[in-house]
Amino acid sequence: MAESEKPAPGREPGQPVQKQKPRPWVWDRHGDELYRKSWARFAEWVAWLESAYAPWVLLPPCWPAHTGLAAELKLFWYWHRWTQTGQASPADAVRWHSELRHAASAWRELATCSHEPPVRHRQAIARDRRRRTEDFVDRAMRREFEAEAGED
Ligand SMILES: [Zn+2]
Repeated sequence: MAESEKPAPGREPGQPVQKQKPRPWVWDRHGDELYRKSWARFAEWVAWLESAYAPWVLLPPCWPAHTGLAAELKLFWYWHRWTQTGQASPADAVRWHSELRHAASAWRELATCSHEPPVRHRQAIARDRRRRTEDFVDRAMRREFEAEAGED
């Protein structure tokens, strides 16, 4: 399979890509202007979140550069918007708060990030880790671990 034909992570091979309308929080296909506007509104909400939920929510200034964190914040944003609709119950809103507190304690680990560019040896370590993971994935594809588990 050519590199360009590989499905995106989480997407099954052969699953139609173009036919399904992306969920509102998926911005991959936004044009530049809509993408910028979406980010502006999102950043505004995150600023509100930080002030409304201080000191629980404490984010580093570089939060937009942490793609995983930004993705999670974006989902909290859409979830928060949904809790304000007529479809949501007070229990849904309580669940949002509960999950927010839980996530915010994990986000604190990044709160002091100085966002230094990775130094050369850290990039080499990251490359080595990726290579090792790929090796383990290859072995999993060959069912090696199932065979090991069955040996006991
Ligand atoms: Zn950072």
